[in-house]
Amino acid sequence: MRIAFFGGTFDPPHCGHIAIARAAIRRLALDQVLVAPVGTQPLKAGLAHSSFEDRLALVRLAVAGEPGLVASSVDAPLANGQPNYTFDTLQRLHSQLQPTDTLFCLLGADSFLTLKSWHRCAELLVFCDFIVAGRPGFSLQDVHAALPEGVESSGERREAGYTCLTLCGPLDQSSELFLLPDLDQDISATEIRAALAEGSTPQTVMPSAVA
Ligand code: ATP
Repeated sequence: MRIAFFGGTFDPPHCGHIAIARAAIRRLALDQVLVAPVGTQPLKAGLAHSSFEDRLALVRLAVAGEPGLVASSVDAPLANGQPNYTFDTLQRLHSQLQPTDTLFCLLGADSFLTLKSWHRCAELLVFCDFIVAGRPGFSLQDVHAALPEGVESSGERREAGYTCLTLCGPLDQSSELFLLPDLDQDISATEIRAALAEGSTPQTVMPSAVA
């Protein structure tokens, strides 16, 4: 199986999330995308968010009836109260997969461009293949500059629907980085929360069950 971990705050899940997951499934022939709300996002640890349980419940509603999309609690709050580091989560998830499975990590361009500040970022990037979805306001051209020290791109090929970079990391590990262009989903959870705070419910940017 080709399985992607799609982590995020999902406060709330919106149509932008669903659109990039659908595009990843279609363009990279994925079998499953695990849509996994994070317990405590290390880079947003101080920010107040809806509870993990509420966000997971909304993700369940958002993915209902979406082929290949599965709500996952793999990134649930940790018993020791520590932030959820993606490197640790992917290692845990990988240990639960079959040897024949291929693991990917799906994220938006805005998230990828912050990668240098992530825990064990160089090792993370070559631990599994990555899929980066374009997002308005963030250029996929900038991913080269976002590669952490110790990781280099050794080749690039263009296919229908994506560009693939081959990455080489510390200890000669390698991975593939798939860039998905033309995903102009101008939707953010921040804007949805702001609209809700002003008393409106923006129907068209969230799956109707979530709204
Ligand atoms: P917030 O506005 O609260 O920061 P968000 O809309 O960015 O939220 P997250 O739950 O933080 O949503 O995002 C989860 C993942 O989905 C991240 O990797 C993010 O880059 C990606 N993502 C979210 N919205 C989009 C979008 N409109 N286009 C492409 N990627 C997106």
